[in-house]
Amino acid sequence: MLSKSPLPELRDRAAIINKYGVCPVCDSPDCHEHKQQPVHECADCGYPTHCSDEHYHAGWEAHQEICQALREQNEDDHDLRSGRPMREFEFPSAQGFDEAVNMANWDVFFYTRSFPSMDSDRSMRHVSKLLTYPITVASILHQSCPYKLGKEVTAEGMRSISALRTVLYPRNELAKDGVSLVRSETINLFIVGARAEASLPQHIWLQLAYLFPHTPFHIHFIGPDALPANKDPYTTSLNERLMFTYDSCMYHDYHEKIEKFDPYTDLFFIFSPGIGYTSARDGWKPTIQKALETKCSIFLTGFDEADVANDVKAVEEDYEGDFDWVLKPSVNEFRSLKRDVNLTDLRQMIFANWGIWGIRGKRYDVTHQPEDD
Ligand SMILES: [Zn+2]
Ligand SMILES: [Zn+2]
Ligand SMILES: [Zn+2]
Repeated sequence: MLSKSPLPELRDRAAIINKYGVCPVCDSPDCHEHKQQPVHECADCGYPTHCSDEHYHAGWEAHQEICQALREQNEDDHDLRSGRPMREFEFPSAQGFDEAVNMANWDVFFYTRSFPSMDSDRSMRHVSKLLTYPITVASILHQSCPYKLGKEVTAEGMRSISALRTVLYPRNELAKDGVSLVRSETINLFIVGARAEASLPQHIWLQLAYLFPHTPFHIHFIGPDALPANKDPYTTSLNERLMFTYDSCMYHDYHEKIEKFDPYTDLFFIFSPGIGYTSARDGWKPTIQKALETKCSIFLTGFDEADVANDVKAVEEDYEGDFDWVLKPSVNEFRSLKRDVNLTDLRQMIFANWGIWGIRGKRYDVTHQPEDD
């Protein structure tokens, strides 16, 4: 039972559901007598699911659709905090140049990148929840990208992605003892509207850098939730190939600080923006407009099919004629495998970065001047 958990944060979760959750039987149109909070805990999943034993039995059949998933989540959360040695979080370090990584999906990625202990579905759920951010980015840039030209990737999109790959995969590479003798230009990754991804431990992003051994990355986390309140913007580096900037200003203000954008070295990621929500739609406009002006690729994710469709529709309506498709809306091979539950309505379960799509500002000709050769 969640409310009897030895772990305070899980007891808090039960308390939040008790206070803000909904009993699905009370929520149905046939129930007029009362609207009670869910305080009755299901013996199978441990979550407070209904207002009373009576409504639990009345709603038992519908609850079976989510009971197993909630139980799995409850067990995962206790496992994560159990204090057992979490061997699945011992990630591999830099790769040798002859190591051929396959990015078709999580399974082959973990296998070809030699992740040591990814031997259970539970481990996959724990690790994918963190790695979905850097590895979703990597999967687009990598030469073994799971999305194919003519299928998910448009001809225009392939031009944009190929431009980035000319920088990421420099020719005449010389490798000695796995040490790169070639340095490419820096790739600037602008993560706009950053939230959860800005608070990931920085070493998680090494898993992106390791996949491109020639390339320095500068990751810019931009947006009101990129930093805790009253923390000043700052730039820091984890090593000589991985630099981070955190800035809580709005993207369109940050944009003015960047001297120039180059579609060969710069790209945008917007994780679950919710552009399609009425409350957010206008707020996104200056940001999307500025990002389209750069002509750099912009990739966006959503947490389920409806969320993606909702954002796509808003963008198609608001920026018609201003953008080309790069990547048609697709199920993201590197989505989080761990469900997130909406505590205010347990019937809604989502997966971080479930879907992915990409666009860029319409352009007719772009030339690239390498910085130093
Ligand atoms: Zn009820
Ligand atoms: Zn009721
Ligand atoms: Zn249950």
